[in-house]
Amino acid sequence: MTQTQGQRPIATDALDRDTFYIDGAWAAPATGAVIEVVSPHTEQVVARVPDGSPADIDAAVAAARRAFDEGPWPRTSPEERIEVLQRFSHLYAARLGDMAELITIEMGSPTSFSNLAQSPAPWMQVEAFIAIARDFPWEAARSGVLGSDVVVRHEPVGVVAAIPPWNVPQFTLISKVVPALLAGCTVVAKPAPESPLDAYLLAELLDEAGVPPGVVNIVAGGREVGAHLVAHPGIDKVAFTGSTAAGRLIGAVCGEQLKRCSLELGGKSAAIVLADADLGPTMEGLRFTALMNSGQACVAQTRILAPRSRYDEVVDALAETVGSMPVGDPADPATEVGPMVARRQQERVSSYIELGQQEGARLVVGGTGMPDGLERGWYVRPTVFADVDNRMRIAQEEIFGPVLSVIAYDDVDDAVRIANDSDYGLAGTVWTTDQEAGLDVARRVRTGTYGINTYTMDFAAPFGGFKASGLGREFGPEGLAQYTETKSIYVPPAPAV
Ligand code: NAD
Repeated sequence: MTQTQGQRPIATDALDRDTFYIDGAWAAPATGAVIEVVSPHTEQVVARVPDGSPADIDAAVAAARRAFDEGPWPRTSPEERIEVLQRFSHLYAARLGDMAELITIEMGSPTSFSNLAQSPAPWMQVEAFIAIARDFPWEAARSGVLGSDVVVRHEPVGVVAAIPPWNVPQFTLISKVVPALLAGCTVVAKPAPESPLDAYLLAELLDEAGVPPGVVNIVAGGREVGAHLVAHPGIDKVAFTGSTAAGRLIGAVCGEQLKRCSLELGGKSAAIVLADADLGPTMEGLRFTALMNSGQACVAQTRILAPRSRYDEVVDALAETVGSMPVGDPADPATEVGPMVARRQQERVSSYIELGQQEGARLVVGGTGMPDGLERGWYVRPTVFADVDNRMRIAQEEIFGPVLSVIAYDDVDDAVRIANDSDYGLAGTVWTTDQEAGLDVARRVRTGTYGINTYTMDFAAPFGGFKASGLGREFGPEGLAQYTETKSIYVPPAPAV
């Protein structure tokens, strides 16, 4: 059986694996437990891989610990590490199509999104981190105020546990593994059970690039095994992307053990359509930023804030846009909205659509039930609710599917108040023909990232959340610094001779 999209179709009967990547080798699992990777489109098993156990995590942490405490990696120069990562980058660039295709197969991301964000964007991160590492102040002297000089060093934080979610599995794994390696850390990565396949390709590429044994170890598994990894005494720092609920548990364990931790969590971002907005380009922009990855995106703009004076116009334009988006087979290049990752996610999103109706919101497009023409697969109908009050649960809780709420505002102050009336603070956008007015709104919304007439992350700049959207930042020099400890060495003045 093969998938037909992509330049070099991947044989899906060759996706099974029976090992983990530990200590630079393909290691047999400690138990016979298996993860069945199921296509969200066909509902058929497409691959079987070992399910990690605590014993596998123990072996991986032991290897990473040895590589950090005794191995050469943390003591290599930044230039030596950059050279290895540059080799990795070249190898990764040659496999972008395969990586995108694997991710579409395992978690159902539309191929149009996979070929943009699921592998090219991670590769761009690698290149950006390499450029940042070249200029990073690994060791710098500064004048002290007490007469001595001070050498300030950025040293590797130690053994890192990297835990990504399934929705953008490479995007969130590369954002941890690559800066960790550039900083001189060693890593144990635990991919999500829904999306383990891409991580095997990553392990192959890191191995081929010459990353030494034990420096990166990869064991896929579920949340129990993730919790074992987080609490493991051999781990110095946890880098996590996932739900706010899991982030709170992980943050609590790290707080108890005084482990470093960075948390990239959920969102409920607001797109503020200002009264002067040109609705044509605004709808084209929202088509992507509100519904990318079938709405399974932490930065999705799911609350659309419309001025009361143009409310009906915005609702109609949005209904037309969302209603016209092709839904179906994620392998079809024309598809814009694919299936949800799992049946439980399909059920969860559908239950929010029912909840919106119970809460009194007006359904203008979509609703419960399968999209027209589809009989199997974990699909939901792209849905727009109007007459939404920001206090409704559909406006406050992260749905993680293609469900949008249009909320009316009175004036710009009211729009900013509504945007900020959220537990989350990850992203936001403003849509306007007046860039200065847009910047003014951007400064007032309490989120870690913001876009004016667009939402495109830039890997040169920090990314992360205010409030319940997380702790710490990824990307930019700030994202690299998360994998370092700073040390100050006080250097007395040279004795007079
Ligand atoms: P999840 O929290 O259920 O799982 C994420 C990962 O953590 C998985 O690998 C899972 O196995 C593991 N895990 C879960 N509980 C754990 C625990 N207690 N200890 C250790 N590991 C644990 O999230 P998900 O459903 O896979 O992903 C969707 C969520 O991720 C959404 O909330 C989304 O907003 C968020 N997300 C955030 C960003 C960001 O950059 N802020 C990016 C992508 C996704």
